[in-house]
Amino acid sequence: MFREVVLGLGNNAAVSGVLKQYGMRLGASRFVAGQTLAEALAVSRDLNRRGIKVTLDHLGESVTEPAAAAAARDSYLEMLQALHGSGVEGNVSLKPTMLGLALDAQLARSNIGQVVDRAADLNNFVRIDMEDSPYTTATLDIFRELWERHPGAVGVVLQAYLYRTRDDLAALSIPPKNFRIVKGAYREPPDRAFPAKPDVDENCFGLVEQSLQAGNYTAVATHDESLIERVVNWVERQGTARTRFEFQMLYGIKLPLLEQLARNGYTTRVYVPFGQDWYAYFVRRLAERPANLLFFARALLTR
Ligand SMILES: Cc1cc2nc3c(=O)[nH]c(=O)nc-3n(C[C@H](O)[C@H](O)[C@H](O)COP(=O)(O)OP(=O)(O)OC[C@H]3O[C@@H](n4cnc5c(N)ncnc54)[C@H](O)[C@@H]3O)c2cc1C
Repeated sequence: MFREVVLGLGNNAAVSGVLKQYGMRLGASRFVAGQTLAEALAVSRDLNRRGIKVTLDHLGESVTEPAAAAAARDSYLEMLQALHGSGVEGNVSLKPTMLGLALDAQLARSNIGQVVDRAADLNNFVRIDMEDSPYTTATLDIFRELWERHPGAVGVVLQAYLYRTRDDLAALSIPPKNFRIVKGAYREPPDRAFPAKPDVDENCFGLVEQSLQAGNYTAVATHDESLIERVVNWVERQGTARTRFEFQMLYGIKLPLLEQLARNGYTTRVYVPFGQDWYAYFVRRLAERPANLLFFARALLTR
């Protein structure tokens, strides 16, 4: 309920005006690694030194012009090239609507395809993030097609709050592929997504189990300590090879826990967003935790 309200308010013009004006100084900088690729790479090197890999995200989504989608594609080509020469252990994550999916599926397919082609050339990897449910089918279609072209260079995200995900995962797992499992961060109607959080939490564990049992490489992307503990117990009981899964968290959240997992010998990765278009990403982070909104409101009132 809290999440729905905050995500809804994020679209309100007055609220977004205030958030855009003060957000970066009073909160967003906690979740955003910097404005430039150079800053994101510096953060990435520090995370690598702690034994943690990264996935770089150039912030931006829902572009409305083909030129903006082409610029986003080019920024990803540049990121892959920069990663290649940098010695940073990391890959990239991209949002399909940043590369044109809200404009035209064919345009997005072509732009994302060029990024995945380049990643394959450079022996790197592209994770296609999952956005809100109007884009789920098109995103999975693009993923399937690109996976046929470069099986080792592309993976996609699946969201536990959607009813459809168990079926999507079953269909996509033949043959096995590479998935990041998350709970889901967007506002979704109850006919598409579990309204109750305990159901989402339970489905998230079930999907991780299903994904690993089907032989997929599985990125478990959560800050939920009891879910992580459940997954750790499950993989240890099953004797699942540690090369078949990893734990991921977002920049700015629960880093000590991820470091502990790295010290315990698990593969770990931080999602490192950077760039100027931080607003929508920040609103999703506010919506995930009442304390974040309180922190922001307090900082705003005492500024
Ligand atoms: C690497 C990564 C990639 C992601 N990619 C996508 C994607 O492509 N599509 C998508 O829809 N969603 C994505 N998400 C977001 C995800 O769907 C959830 O919204 C988010 O991870 C919060 O859920 P949780 O699993 O941490 O569990 P929750 O039960 O929400 O949180 C568990 C605990 O984690 C901490 N926590 C969670 N969120 C925050 C926060 N914002 N600030 C501070 N503490 C917090 C709190 O202590 C909370 O009690 C991604 C998440 C991660 C970690």
